[in-house]
Amino acid sequence: MGRIDLKERAAITAISCRSYRIPTDGPEGDGTLAWQSTTVVVVQVYCEHHFGTGWTYSSDACQAIVNSELADALVGHDALDIAGLHEAMVRSCRNLGRPGVVAAAISAVDIALWDLKAKYLGLSLLKLFGSCRVDVPVYGSGGFTTYDELTTASQLASWVGEFGIPRVKIKIAESWGREVDRDLKRVALARKTIGPTVELFVDANGGYSRKQAARIGQRLYEEHGVTWFEEPVSSDDLEGLRLLRDYLPVDVAAGEYGYDETYFARMVAAESVDCLQIDVTRCGGFTSFMRASAIAAAHCLEVSCHCAPSLHASVAASTVNLRHVEYFHDHARIDSLLFDGVPVPKNGVLTLDPSLTGHGMTLMEADAAVFQIG
Ligand SMILES: [Mg+2]
Repeated sequence: MGRIDLKERAAITAISCRSYRIPTDGPEGDGTLAWQSTTVVVVQVYCEHHFGTGWTYSSDACQAIVNSELADALVGHDALDIAGLHEAMVRSCRNLGRPGVVAAAISAVDIALWDLKAKYLGLSLLKLFGSCRVDVPVYGSGGFTTYDELTTASQLASWVGEFGIPRVKIKIAESWGREVDRDLKRVALARKTIGPTVELFVDANGGYSRKQAARIGQRLYEEHGVTWFEEPVSSDDLEGLRLLRDYLPVDVAAGEYGYDETYFARMVAAESVDCLQIDVTRCGGFTSFMRASAIAAAHCLEVSCHCAPSLHASVAASTVNLRHVEYFHDHARIDSLLFDGVPVPKNGVLTLDPSLTGHGMTLMEADAAVFQIG
């Protein structure tokens, strides 16, 4: 069978891309990085009288890639042919190098393509993907090392009290693992604030050495009931993660820097994680997210969606081996400033509405304009 003449069906007519820089609402930092703002790159893909919207949290350098390589690969082709469009985007960037900014740009466009396809067909993304649940469990995430005690405690209390979330995560390994006493004091504060039954997670962002992580991980579990130890060592140290996974009773998690399917395949093959983290705004969009979760499923592993809760909600609802979605303070706040229709957790879950079209979120142009940088 020959290729359908895609241009006669639903040809992509244009792609637009804008960048917004949103200052943090206070000092934000983790064990190995600090930041004062977050840049959101918003892509819109047009076809007939429809358009789809996608975004990524990256650098405005994404714009140049979207407007040149990716636009050249997509305009004029059938908007519904996402597998082919995704592959065309990846091939067009061969000489740029896929990980990092390129993958973030591809992710934003891929998300926009799926939103567009769902809207074109008059479906929610939930129905287009095919759901296995309507309620998506989340965990509260923030707890920056830059917070004072009052800020940390009030954020934790709000996740548990206001949103009914039964699991929370704070950052540790402050200053590349040189403030262990403060790390443990902050974990103790978190446990005291949330009480004995709420699950407590920590994220070291790769700030500890192997043996240091082993010693601290033991104490985190025994003294504070921590059950999730994210990037105890660098996620590039697959063997170190595996050793810690074998040694510690806590779950070891990583995967947030996965920019293509081969990254996840290597991490899973090395037996480095108990739960694979995937970020739809980095890995290559919904198309690559579904492939990465299939890799995990084939190895009897669950997946957790890294950050970007608004964008992950629909695909999480269609992922059988999902554990939870990270309700990240920074992204939840930013999304509500820029977009209408952002889901908010109630009783610890994001509840999806199958009657929406697409992912159900629209850019609030006037509100967003004050943050626009390109
Ligand atoms: Mg992390």
